[in-house]
Amino acid sequence: MKVTVLGAAKEVGRSGFLVDAGHKKILMDYGVLLKRDREPAFPLHVKPKEIDAVILTHAHLDHSGFVPSLFLSDIIGLQALGTPPTFDLSYLLIEDMIKISGFYLPFEYLDVMNMKNHSRELAYREPYLLDGIQINLFESGHVLGGATITVSHENKTIFYTGDINTRGSKLLRPADLNVGEIDLMIIESTYSQSDQTPREQSEHDLLSFANQIIEDGGTVFIPAFSVERAQEIACVLQAHKFPHRVVMDGMALKANEIMLRHPSFLRDPDTFKDAITRAEWIKGWNRRKKVVNEPCVIISPAGMLVGGSAVHYLQELSKSDKNGIALVSYQGEGTPGRMLLEKGVSSFQGKLTKCHAAVRQFEFSGHNSRAELFEILNTVKGSPEVLTVHGDGKACTDFAREIQEKYGFKAHAPEAGETVQV
Ligand SMILES: [Zn+2]
Repeated sequence: MKVTVLGAAKEVGRSGFLVDAGHKKILMDYGVLLKRDREPAFPLHVKPKEIDAVILTHAHLDHSGFVPSLFLSDIIGLQALGTPPTFDLSYLLIEDMIKISGFYLPFEYLDVMNMKNHSRELAYREPYLLDGIQINLFESGHVLGGATITVSHENKTIFYTGDINTRGSKLLRPADLNVGEIDLMIIESTYSQSDQTPREQSEHDLLSFANQIIEDGGTVFIPAFSVERAQEIACVLQAHKFPHRVVMDGMALKANEIMLRHPSFLRDPDTFKDAITRAEWIKGWNRRKKVVNEPCVIISPAGMLVGGSAVHYLQELSKSDKNGIALVSYQGEGTPGRMLLEKGVSSFQGKLTKCHAAVRQFEFSGHNSRAELFEILNTVKGSPEVLTVHGDGKACTDFAREIQEKYGFKAHAPEAGETVQV
């Protein structure tokens, strides 16, 4: 087999890998790179008619967002493979991207419909055979329905981690690393060179921040990505028996509905159901305007404050120093979230106003920490060649060097367009 890197070389975004087994070609992920106020970037082009299957690791747009471009109306024979939640959440995010993108995208709703018609749902550890090639999905712990992939052919196996979390979360079980002997490993490198705050510490800090603000008469706003992070925060509050009201809004509500339909993919379906159904789901502007004056926690996308009802909540809650804003995800450069964090200002339609609310950031990553990435290498069976991807340049190249030194595996950070023989 051969693997060609189509996008995620020394960067995060637009993941895509083409596996060529001679008689069949299989894509693993095909995502977009969305940058604020800039045209989206796509992975290298492949001819859809030459591809036999595209496997999705998970629903995030940097892994799934370009898949509809393969499903032009006249395509036959190409299949999309993934878990049921991955498909449901991908459609939600892709359709939203089409709706709000101010830039040209080389596909439309019709192509998403066509992708739906060609999709085939797989369970974890349910081998799928494509003309002698065996495909397996394993739980990745990163987002609901998320998977790692193995592709095996003629006694060789490729293992692609996608985005991975081996410690699990309140929402999800840890990644399943029992994938058998492998010959090539494509591993994410997001946090390979940086440390993260331990999870228990982040939970404790967020809880005491939120309690303090509400006890002092304020309201807490938690901008959160609609898929996974919003629900994870609701579950954290529930698990710690948070004594105040929790409110959810925006596209997180649609993600809630999807997740409630797939309880078997959750670590603890009962806690999830309690957390989500006990929260108030905001329906309409009447409640949205009133709730900013009530003692509660409001969870709403967008996680970096770029749009959605988050803009309204930021504007309203910025007005008083009694309120608090808790950022629970990475804030990309040039986003309103980063401006709020670094300069204490909120931006709306180009106008900057001072934010009077207390602003704090808490780390709740869905990725492995540095130590956990090495833990994967400790448990791996075989002596695979390793490709380090999905991190900034240094994260990928330094990680590869460390793997080579520590384990003696051949390892490097590949360039886009590079092909590796397995
Ligand atoms: Zn992801």
